[in-house]
Formats: sequence, C-alpha cells, structure tokens
Amino acid sequence: MSQDEKWVYLFREGNATMRDLLGGKGANLAEMTNIGLPVPPGFTITTEACNVYSATGQLPDGLWEQLLAALKDIEQNMGQRFGERTNPLLFSVRSGAKFSMPGMMDTILNLGLNEETLQGVIAATNNPRFAYDSYRRFIMMFSDVVLAEGRAELEKEAFEEILEEVKHKHGVEIDSDLSAEGMKEVADGFLAHFHQHYGEHFPSDPMDQLRLSILAVFRSWNNPRATIYRNKERIAHDLGTAVNVQSMVFGNMGDDCGTGVAFTRDPATGEKHVFGEFLRNAQGEDVVAGVRTPQSIDQLAQEFPAIYQQFEEVCSRLEGHYREMQDIEFTIQNQRLFILQCRSGKRTGQAAVKVAVDMVGEGLITRNEGINRVPPSQLEQLLHPRLVKPAGLRPIATGLNAGPGGAVGHVAMDSAAAIRMQQEGKQVILVRKITNPDDLGGMLAAKGVLTSEGGRTSHAALVARQYGIPTICGCKDIRVDDANRQFLVAGTAVKEGDVISIDGTTGEVYLEELKTEPVAVTGDFAKFMEWADAARKLGVRANADTPEQAAEAVRLGAEGIGLCRTEHMFLGSDRVELVRDMILAEDETARQAALDRLLPMQREDFVGIFRAMDGRPVTVRLIDPPLHEFLPHAEHVRDELRRLQVEHSSPESVQAQIKLLAKVEELHEENPMLGLRGCRLSIVMPGIVNMQVAAIIGAASELAKAGEEVHPEIMIPLVGHVNELTFLKGQLEDVAQKTMEAEGAQVDYQFGTMIEIPRAALTAAEIAAQASFFSFGTNDLTQMTYGISRDDAGSFLPIYIEKGIFKQDPTESIDRTGVGRLMKICVDDARAVSPNLKVGICGEHGGDPASVQFCHEIGLNYVSCSPLRVPVARLAAAQAALGSTGPADK
Ligand code: ADP
Ligand code: MG
Ligand code: MG
Repeated sequence: MSQDEKWVYLFREGNATMRDLLGGKGANLAEMTNIGLPVPPGFTITTEACNVYSATGQLPDGLWEQLLAALKDIEQNMGQRFGERTNPLLFSVRSGAKFSMPGMMDTILNLGLNEETLQGVIAATNNPRFAYDSYRRFIMMFSDVVLAEGRAELEKEAFEEILEEVKHKHGVEIDSDLSAEGMKEVADGFLAHFHQHYGEHFPSDPMDQLRLSILAVFRSWNNPRATIYRNKERIAHDLGTAVNVQSMVFGNMGDDCGTGVAFTRDPATGEKHVFGEFLRNAQGEDVVAGVRTPQSIDQLAQEFPAIYQQFEEVCSRLEGHYREMQDIEFTIQNQRLFILQCRSGKRTGQAAVKVAVDMVGEGLITRNEGINRVPPSQLEQLLHPRLVKPAGLRPIATGLNAGPGGAVGHVAMDSAAAIRMQQEGKQVILVRKITNPDDLGGMLAAKGVLTSEGGRTSHAALVARQYGIPTICGCKDIRVDDANRQFLVAGTAVKEGDVISIDGTTGEVYLEELKTEPVAVTGDFAKFMEWADAARKLGVRANADTPEQAAEAVRLGAEGIGLCRTEHMFLGSDRVELVRDMILAEDETARQAALDRLLPMQREDFVGIFRAMDGRPVTVRLIDPPLHEFLPHAEHVRDELRRLQVEHSSPESVQAQIKLLAKVEELHEENPMLGLRGCRLSIVMPGIVNMQVAAIIGAASELAKAGEEVHPEIMIPLVGHVNELTFLKGQLEDVAQKTMEAEGAQVDYQFGTMIEIPRAALTAAEIAAQASFFSFGTNDLTQMTYGISRDDAGSFLPIYIEKGIFKQDPTESIDRTGVGRLMKICVDDARAVSPNLKVGICGEHGGDPASVQFCHEIGLNYVSCSPLRVPVARLAAAQAALGSTGPADK
C-alpha cells in the first residue's frame, strides 16, 4: 500500500471490468456513465480501502484528500455544494461488493441534511413535504445503519413505530399521504427519539455524516447477515466492499416522480419483456421493502408513456451492451429518468435456461456462451416436483407466482419454527407477512414460502429465484395472524403445523395435502441439455439401486449406472429375515441354504435394473457394509430378551434371542468403518459375494439369451492391496464362468475395483494390472485421507468452516490439494500401465459442479451421481470442457 495509491474513482474514471476494485455496483455505475446513460454523478471508494480499514481500523492515508477532490468535481458538475445552506447537494452512500449481495448491506439516502440545509432544500424546491420526507428518511437510515449497533431503540423499527403513530393521528394509511406538517412532525419525533436514546444530538455536520457512513458501510462487510450469505454462496470473506457516494435524485418530490426496479426479461419464466414494479412519489427501498404495494411497470407505460419508452430503450441498450439480462434500478424525478444501478439479473433455473436459449436464438450470444450462462446447480430447480391437481380442485387463495414449483408441507409461522420443524424431519411451508434478510435460514429450511405482502421484487421473491424455492408473494387473500400462530383464509384458520400445498408456478394455495410428480426434460430444457452434451467430454452416469431409480436416471440423461449398491436390496422387508438367517447360520450348510433362497431374489433385482438401463453399462458394487448393519442394535436385543424373560415366554424364543445377542456382540466392532467390511468381508465369508456374482451373471445371461444388450461391471470395494483384488477376482471369475456354463450364455462382464483407500491410489500401477476399471469412492477416500469420519465430524467440521480452517467442507466438494492429488497420482500411474483403463467417480462428489470440473481436468472417463443431479453433472461437464467456471456474477 503506497501513499499515492488511488482509493477514489469518479464514475467516469471506472468501467465494468473493474469489479474487483470498485465492486459490481460501482463498476456498472461507471460503465453506464461512460456509455452516456443518465446516471447521477458520483464516485466509488475501492474495496482495497475497505480491506485496509478491516485490517487497521482506519481509513488509508491519502483517501480523504482524494475524496475531497472528487467531491469538488461533482459539486462543479451539479452546480450545487455539499453542506451548503442554499440549495445543498445531497448524497447517497451505497455499499457494493464484487458480487451483489441483495439486502445484505445497507444504504443511506439524503445524506447532508441538517436543520440548516433542510431550509435550503425547502427554499430551493418550494416543497416542504418533500424536504421533511427526505429528512425523516435520512434520520432513520443514518441512525439504523451507522449508530444502532445492537441498540434496538435506534433501529428502523423503533422509528417506524413513531411514523405509524403520526399517520394514525393524521388519519392516513400510506406514508406518501402525509402532509408537510405530518412529515415535519415525524422528523421532529425522530430527532427527539434519537436524542433521548443516544444521549446526544443527531450528527449535523455533513462531512461527519459522510465519514461515519463510509465507515459503517465498511463495517457492514462483516455483519452476521453478510457473513452468512457469503458462506452460503461461497464468496470469499476477504474481498471487501466498495462504497459509492452518489448525488441524490428524488423520486419523492411529487406525483410526477417515483422509483422502481425492473428486469429486462421475466426473472421467473425468462419471457422476453420488461418486467418490474414502480412506486409513485417514493424513494429508495420503498419498492423492495413492501411498505406500499408497488404498481406493475405496465402502469408506468400508461401514465408516463414517454418515460416508459425511454426506459425500454435503456433496457435494450444495456442488454445489448452487456449481452446479458439486466436488473435495473431507476428513479424518476419530475418526469426525468435516472438509472441508479444495473447488474445481471438473478433468475430461476427455468428462466436461466430460457434466457440462454433465447439469446442464442437472437444472435446475442454464442451457443457456448449460452451453456456457460446457467449455473449447473440451478438446473435442479427445473426438476422441482409439480403439484398433481385432481380435476375440479380449486385454490383457496391466489398470490404472485414468485418462485416456480410445487411444495407441500406443514405451516411454520416464523423462521425459528421452520428450522425446528425441518430438524424434526418435516416438510415445511414458511408463511409470513413479508420476509427480510434475517429469514434466510428459515426460508432455506422450507420447501416453500408464502407471504401475504410484498411484490415480485420483494426479498422473498429474490430469495425464491436464487435458491429455487417454490414461493408465492403478496397473497392478499390470506391474513397472517402471528399472535395466534395461524393465518386466516376464506373464513378458515390455518394453524401452525397444518398441511397446505402451494403452486409457485401459478401462485395458487391449497388447503389439501396434494401429491407431487417429477418434471420432464422437454422444450428449451431439452434443447439446452443437448447443447451441453455436445460440448462435454466426460461421461455422466447415475448412482441407482433399483429399476425405478435406473429408469429415472435414464430419463434425466444418464449414460449408465456408475454405482449400484447391492446391500440396499438386502433391506427389503421380505429379504431382511433371510439375510439374518444367513448371518446367524451355525454352519456352512445352513448359511448356503439361506444364500440359495436369496439368489433368485437378487437375480430378479438385476434383471430389472439391466432392463431399465437398456444396454447401458451397469457397475454393480459387491457387498460393502459390515454385517451388523443388517442386525438389530445390541440394546434393542437385550431389551427384547429381558421382556421375553419377564413374560415367561417359550424357552425356544428366549434361546433364539440369546443366540441373536451373542451374534450381535460377536460382530460388534470398535471402528466398523475400518473393520470387517468390503472385500475383507468377502474374503472371510465368501458365500455372499459368490451368490451376488451368480445373481449378476445369471441375470445378464437371461437378457443375453433374450437377445438384449447388457454390460455388467462388477466392482470390488475397499481394496487396499492388489492381492485382495487378485484373490477375490480368481474366486469370482470361477463363479462367473460356471454360471455362464450353466445358463449356456456368454456375457460381456468386467471386474474392477473401487479406489477408496489411500494405499490403493498410491499402488494404482499394481492394481491397474488386475482391473478392467477403477471407480473413485470419494466418500471413503476423503474420510480416510483426512482421517475424519463423516458420522462424527459434526462436532468440529462446522467450526472448522466457520473459523476458516477449512475453506470448504471436503465431503461436499473434492479437496483438490489432498484427496485430488491422490486421485491424480492414481490416474496417472494406472494409465501408465493400462492406457485405456476406464476410470470414473461414484462418490457423492460426482454431482458437485466444482468436483466435476476437477474430474474433467484429471481425465476421468465419467462421473456418477444421484439421478436428480445428472443434468447438473452434464452441464458442469460441458462447462468444464469449455474451460469455464460459470457466470462471473454470482
Ligand atoms: P442495494 O444494494 O440494497 O440495492 P442501493 O445502493 O442500490 O442498495 O440503494 C437502494 C436504493 O436506494 C436504490 O435502488 C435507489 O432506489 C435508492 N438510491 C440509491 N442511491 C440513490 C441516489 N443517488 N438517488 C436516488 N435514489 C438512490
Ligand atoms: Mg440494501
Ligand atoms: Mg440496489
């Protein structure tokens, strides 16, 4: 950091590429200024200044001088002076980080007002109502943002109560109906309230106001809401925020004024038309905050056609300039349009796909750019279930369709209840009057959100779009009754805990518990996925254990099964008894008898899965978990034994229970994860895997004989030493050959192994010589590389993340430096021996976009993930192949 570093940029000195330094808002204000849009002049203080402030608690040297110079520039431009008594210049102080963080940090408007400048404004505008309105807003915002810090009396809500009292006294419903006297009363009330609770007069020196505000914005970077948002969005905590100081324009000067927000396309559906809301005679966040219900932008078209036309031109100019859908904030002052912000518009997954496909069609962007425009994780939203509506069903209420998709769940009347009910394992619908940033946790815990107030640009709608939560806003038909933890609709009281259904696609509310059905990949979505498939190099398979899952996986584009877990087949109600008999068998004959009865069942399972996959490869993992997972808990068996004894049950049943207890105790392990499981179990107890291979090859033979294509890949888990694989393969090849002979069929099968023990990765050259394929089991590989058990990590992993010791949870996204390094060593060493070795991944990381990117980089053949994530992985693989990590603007 040097003395002469530039900390302050006038808008005309910046541009859109300077997001790191100027933040997204500042960079775009600069860009818009330079392409000649009507942006009120201002300047931006850099994110680096914020970082200096965060580190030292002080503004960097030289900053204030630069700020004063910028101020002078603007004063000359505007022909007004900041802090001057006659016709004073007023500013807004606006935060703006590299990535937009809606509602996370705060803005101060009308800065520079005090008792004297206020008189200047009145004299200059001859509009005292406007002047006092601006003043009361400033007192409240400044107090709330700059000075409240944990003091509830200085927060917005306390001031709003005073406002309500005055409104009540004057008999008006909405703020803008207050007369000049009313507004003055509010401002005076605010000042008195401030003095009473702060103990000092409201800061009147405009320069002090400016300095304190800038520092407050810098501090807000580290407020809890901002921190939670960054954690959720994986935005680095050390980026810092910029501060924009901008001359004010006023939407609250009268009825030919107003303020609004608009998108260049519909953010819920992607439809191409200007979409937004505006409020007459209003300022700032009135639109978003739901203070008054805003009008649709179409109203603007009717009332101020010339302005609307100008606005439409701005929209198409900005879209053309940025080649991206824009979210625009504007203000109209005495019929003059000003643009206060633009950024790429947040949208639902559905809209993202439509906008990308349309823009490619319009020739605005290339097909590859289109592919990169959709964040892979957003595709899951398109797979949100839809409500199944029986004929004749009528909604009980209708609101704004803010977030598409159907949701069914128990009503929760606040965020705390939503979180609690979700933890109890319930599906939740959060019902509120409006939501605010503190509700984020509750909204994320909910399957759906319903609000009685607030428009399409309200906080709830924003969150809905971003996280794909089915949401209905502004549902006037319901009345939220917080005191009684219920809402009222059409004469019915719906209590917390009652089940309702909401359709976020149509905005309809039902009191019935409806069923849901999955969505299909059709239309624009299908077209988009075709483009992605053409671009990607990685194969995409699914993890599926049943014919139903297999069919769903194929529907969603899976090219095979990368992991079919056979033990799930043991847990079916008709099976578990047999499996227990098998485990409890006293001798080999009894065990074999049980296995012989299991064989046809397993074989039938495989026939179903192979059929559903219709010739696509299917990787079947042989039994993996320790046997005690199939037996009841020791505690439970002991209780049962005691009960039998007390009740003097038959000696046979007591004996059986004693035997069971002995077996459960015998199988008990201190560290089952590192115990008798995987290939170890199969070496010690060969009967189960022999049966499984006979079932797999038998099923495949059955299909082969019927002329159907089938490619089983038999995967041996938990190999750490090549000899384990060689030993088992020898034994199982034998079973396979014998089965084919008995069936009189030839099957194209392969034996391969999972790589999930670090030693296997490190000795890949030896193992590759014995295997036809590898599949990274990154769940275990991560646990064993870190020496962390996922089941026990709850006590420290969240703290690690919070304290920044781990930047990411390695169980969610592959740890490139450690686990990833092992994977790379493994792939390179294995391919040196066996250049065409097929290598995939079947851990849960296979559906995580960043991990998919990594798998592409190290040259895997495919990733495998849960069926619903298959489209996500397909898109992530395409973006990896195109060398992109997705849109820059999170
Ligand atoms: P956020 O990041 O929460 O969107 P902004 O900095 O965009 O906060 O400010 C919120 C709103 O305040 C804007 O949408 C606009 O209506 C109003 N505002 C900000 N600066 C000005 C200004 N210079 N003149 C008039 N209104 C402004
Ligand atoms: Mg804000
Ligand atoms: Mg804004």
